[in-house]
Amino acid sequence: MSKKRRANVTLVNIEDLNTWSKYRKGLCDDCIANCCRMPVEAKLSDLVRMGVVDAFEAEDPAKQIAKRLKKEGIIEHFNGKREVFTLARKANLDCMYLHPTTRRCTIYSVRPDICRNHPQIGPKPNFCPYEKR
Ligand code: SF4
Repeated sequence: MSKKRRANVTLVNIEDLNTWSKYRKGLCDDCIANCCRMPVEAKLSDLVRMGVVDAFEAEDPAKQIAKRLKKEGIIEHFNGKREVFTLARKANLDCMYLHPTTRRCTIYSVRPDICRNHPQIGPKPNFCPYEKR
């Protein structure tokens, strides 16, 4: 590996909170959106707002809804005890709603609450896995 290549190796590790940066306004503007590569836990109300579950289906048992969403590749996991759905990610760990080129959320106005609350609420409040594009 050349020196130049070595110099480009990222030091940001999503799973290592010590590599996260203190959040400040404007930080998202040139970020690669690593926060959209972390598991997203959505509630049924999030899924209804996102339009992947309609109001009628929302009356069905959550386990039954989860089975359909999993089959359609919308979620990757369902926690029956907490009734929490984990959104599916692509092979590179990107959220399925993250645009591959713009690195922006394609469902921004209806995104899950957990995304709205990041980074104020999260594994390390007010810090995020910022990485320059
Ligand atoms: S729903 Fe949108 S904001 Fe939330 S992780 Fe996916 S791309 Fe990011």
